[in-house]
Amino acid sequence: RADLALYRAKGEGKDRLAFFEAHLQEALRREMDLLEALREDLVRGDGLWLAYQPIVDLESGEKVALEALLRWRLAPPAEFIPLAERHRLMPELGRWVLRRACGERGRHGLPVHVNVSPVELLDPSYPERVAEALEATGCPPGDLVLEVTETSLIPDERGRDATQTLQALRGLGVRVFLDDFGSGYSSLERLAGLAVDGVKLGQAFTRALGCPPNPESPAARLVAAVLALAQALGLTAVAEGIEDEAALDYLKGLGFPLGQGFLWGRPAPL
Ligand code: C2E
Ligand code: MG
Ligand code: MG
Ligand code: MG
Repeated sequence: RADLALYRAKGEGKDRLAFFEAHLQEALRREMDLLEALREDLVRGDGLWLAYQPIVDLESGEKVALEALLRWRLAPPAEFIPLAERHRLMPELGRWVLRRACGERGRHGLPVHVNVSPVELLDPSYPERVAEALEATGCPPGDLVLEVTETSLIPDERGRDATQTLQALRGLGVRVFLDDFGSGYSSLERLAGLAVDGVKLGQAFTRALGCPPNPESPAARLVAAVLALAQALGLTAVAEGIEDEAALDYLKGLGFPLGQGFLWGRPAPL
């Protein structure tokens, strides 16, 4: 997009070019400053923490697990996680999250969900990192749920994908859930053969239902079909992004066993 902006600016005269260059330079400087600060905080183990959000049994209303969501003092995850991925800081950051989440599990005693970046999952030694974290913290493997995205499961230019790593992880006794299910590109054929235990329906679907949800809408039919698919494959289904009673009633009525969302609380420190 930046290249395109420059190209267009060139066509529109020198002043515009200077403007775009200054703009790009500023964005680059911010990125480098943030990266440097993130590296320092990670080394010092300061300024980073985990926020937790409950995953709830829709029938009983009980918390069945917590999802750990990384927080940093200087930027939201949507900004600093892609930054860390671009600059090869993600493996280290991910290791910090894993250790911390497994370590804090003793304080709540619930299974903990940890998000895993595609770059971590593509590293064949990732299951060893997980085994180390479990060992070091005494977290039972069955109490760790790794949330992976469909992006991790698409073969890259060299034909590598994470399917073998997923097998190894499940060999450890750890569970694997597919995050933001339905918003990526995994084929149905692929899904049937995947070594996953559950799927999380992306919050875009929940939002698309409307408020109150309209059962006749194409979005509602799609959500019902996705649930049926998960059930047919024997996968646990979690509905994300439940913000109000209307969405809860609707998704519970459809048969979602588990849900998550602002209705029960925003992610917060333990
Ligand atoms: P995600 O794993 O799909 O996490 C759910 C996101 O939805 C969280 O955003 C959460 O705060 C938000 N959310 C929860 N309930 C609701 C709701 O009812 N309504 C709405 N509108 N939003 C809701 P957050 O914490 O900003 O995280 C964004 C993304 O960053 C996560 O999406 C995940 O992909 C990534 N992320 C967060 N922590 C980590 C981490 O430790 N490692 C990796 N690799 N990625 C992480
Ligand atoms: Mg997640
Ligand atoms: Mg999600
Ligand atoms: Mg996600």
